[in-house]
Amino acid sequence: MSTTIAAISTGNAPGGIGVIRISGDNAVKIADEVFECRDGTSLTDLGGYRAKFGSIVIDGKRQDDAVALVFRAPKSYTGEDVAEISVHGGLLSVQKTLDAVFAAGAAPAGAGEFTKRAFLNGKMDLTQAESVADIISAEGEEELKASIGALHGRLSRSINAVLEKLLDSSATMAAWVDYPDEEIPELESDELEKTLTFCKNELNSLLESYDKGQTIRSGVDTVIAGRPNVGKSSLMNMLTGTDKSIVTHIEGTTRDIVEENVRLGGIVLHLKDTAGLRESGDVVENIGIEKAYRALDNAQLVLAVFDSSESLTDEDRELINRCSGKLAVAVINKTDLETSADTDIIKKAFEKTVFISAKNDEGLAELENAVTSLLGVADFDSSAPLLANLRQKQHCESALSCINEALDGVSLGVTYDAINVMLDAAADELLSLTGKKANAEVVNNIFSKFCVGK
Ligand code: GDP
Repeated sequence: MSTTIAAISTGNAPGGIGVIRISGDNAVKIADEVFECRDGTSLTDLGGYRAKFGSIVIDGKRQDDAVALVFRAPKSYTGEDVAEISVHGGLLSVQKTLDAVFAAGAAPAGAGEFTKRAFLNGKMDLTQAESVADIISAEGEEELKASIGALHGRLSRSINAVLEKLLDSSATMAAWVDYPDEEIPELESDELEKTLTFCKNELNSLLESYDKGQTIRSGVDTVIAGRPNVGKSSLMNMLTGTDKSIVTHIEGTTRDIVEENVRLGGIVLHLKDTAGLRESGDVVENIGIEKAYRALDNAQLVLAVFDSSESLTDEDRELINRCSGKLAVAVINKTDLETSADTDIIKKAFEKTVFISAKNDEGLAELENAVTSLLGVADFDSSAPLLANLRQKQHCESALSCINEALDGVSLGVTYDAINVMLDAAADELLSLTGKKANAEVVNNIFSKFCVGK
């Protein structure tokens, strides 16, 4: 018999509705103690996938109006009986209902405990469980699509296809080795090589998409750099659509670094608008400039801004030099004014150059294309299976190295029982990846990173 657990599943902030989720053998009974159906019936008589309107009753007093949803095992998120009570989403109202649920016998759910139960009850594998956390934290559209794909089992299917082939070959080989007297047809080495090459290619393509996937998932540390007044803050505003960066015609206004996350072309840029890069006698400003250069050196991507209406200055040339060898887009601003800058010098120095007018909000699509193509994510297919984290990547790499070893073994004529050991090792890695063989410590570690209520 499982302990019945409960937690607030909506965020810890006032909202229209707050949801208390209860899961375990006594979930519906406990919900029934705090929830009174308006039609006089009892939740305990309710079948799965049913909802009732009613009230929360605490110490015999009717409180908030509420809706209770009942799911019956195994057809629920956790695979257990689940009740979800939706109340008006003021923090106090939700907390009071949760307290009443605890008083009725539920225990507080630990971080990720609902999803952990779903995993332990076979409702999802580890890659799917991990995708739940990824969906919650997703900021970019492509990241969200990829995580939803994983939740729907896209990665699991791809891994399981490889696993099935490995286990099939392994079983045939084992039977042939173990029962030489039986009429088991020998596995042709050509056939085995073909199967292993399929497995190798599948795992290779998963590993190849990992880096792009990480760019999509984690976002890109991006610095907007340029001398004062070229329009860095205006570009920041154009990208964020807000006025967080101060835009003014007085040089050196952005003395420190303003940070913002923006979505561009489906990916998230962690943007830093830096102090204008120029020689300055002002101590405070100099500290800002020093920080700006450091941020530029550490950035994964630089948006180097130039003013098309003015000739290039020494500071502009210094910026061009600083960007060499970095992923950087030259952003030539103020195209609404007459051009004075030697833009050919800039174009030659940068792999991508775009012309914008931050003032008129022009050039955003070009900037988006330049950034996504420079990052190599322009053709990213978020509908393809994707490894989501280092844990998954490492298991995939280890499985691949066992398969490569097995392939070498086949071409060298190594005995089938030796090859079988390698196939079993590869299969083990993939079983750990999907969680069918993961140890308790790994599982606990994964779910400890979840929020309570999920
Ligand atoms: P920063 O010092 O590089 O951050 O530059 P700001 O964004 O503060 O802009 C400096 C000045 O240039 C302000 O007066 C802006 O209004 C102006 N500015 C920015 N972008 C454009 C543009 O595209 N066209 C024109 N004409 N002026 C711009």
